[in-house]
Amino acid sequence: MSVLRTEGLGKIYSSKGNVSYKALEDIDLAVEAGEFVGIMGPSGSGKTTLLNLLSTIDKPTSGRLEVNGIEPAKLNDKKLALFRRRELGFVFQDFNLLDTLAIKENIVLPLVLEGMPPKKIEEKLAPLAELLQISHILNKRTYEVSGGQKQRAAIARAIIHQPSLVLADELTGNLDSKAAKDVMDALKDMNERLRATVLMVTHDPFSASYCQRIIFIKDGKFFSEIRRGSNRQAFFQQILDALSVLGGNFDDVPFARA
Ligand code: ADP
Ligand code: MG
Repeated sequence: MSVLRTEGLGKIYSSKGNVSYKALEDIDLAVEAGEFVGIMGPSGSGKTTLLNLLSTIDKPTSGRLEVNGIEPAKLNDKKLALFRRRELGFVFQDFNLLDTLAIKENIVLPLVLEGMPPKKIEEKLAPLAELLQISHILNKRTYEVSGGQKQRAAIARAIIHQPSLVLADELTGNLDSKAAKDVMDALKDMNERLRATVLMVTHDPFSASYCQRIIFIKDGKFFSEIRRGSNRQAFFQQILDALSVLGGNFDDVPFARA
């Protein structure tokens, strides 16, 4: 079953001066339950635009999109807010954890908002924290833990309510290579053990090599797609090759890691 489906999805930005810009055109996507999919493309290719449409932060100007059989375009504001909270989980480049709360309080926020009883919340938190190896930092504040630990806490927050789809935007962008590896190992674990469906935008080939499938976009359009075999190192090389065919500008891509 497709958890995410888009048909002819497009976005034209229009500004006051009547200048319009086609940022995304005719994107057909299908992500199956339990898949781990990456989106790559040069700077300006439309990655953030696509993620904003999928996360319902922005609205498409053409085509349609469906998550878990629900079309967000058909929902009123109140239902849309619920849709976002229940069906989606987010992991951001800059963690987006609340500094006034403990790590634990950050993680359980989606369950608290649903009114889940504290005992049940605890039952969900403990095994998840164990899996992500953050049990020992649950009572710390965000400024007392490392970047990698913060991002693993953010992953926990993104999946604790078992959303249909986890959307990640450059989640290793602010991490050194050791922390990036820990975070990608953690995300892969969540995908494999908990069957979390993940769609991740990245321009880092190392992070992308954890995906099962990568979709490349260029100038707002679908360009190509590759699938991973059993070997991550080989996939990493395949990604580098695909990026060189893709061309374009990849400012700040750390090509040296593998
Ligand atoms: P990427 O994330 O792949 O770097 P973006 O989705 O941010 O690309 O941008 C795609 C194109 O759309 C770029 O040319 C960008 O300048 C343009 N763009 C993005 N956001 C806006 C906006 N709010 N208004 C006008 N143009 C935009
Ligand atoms: Mg972007």
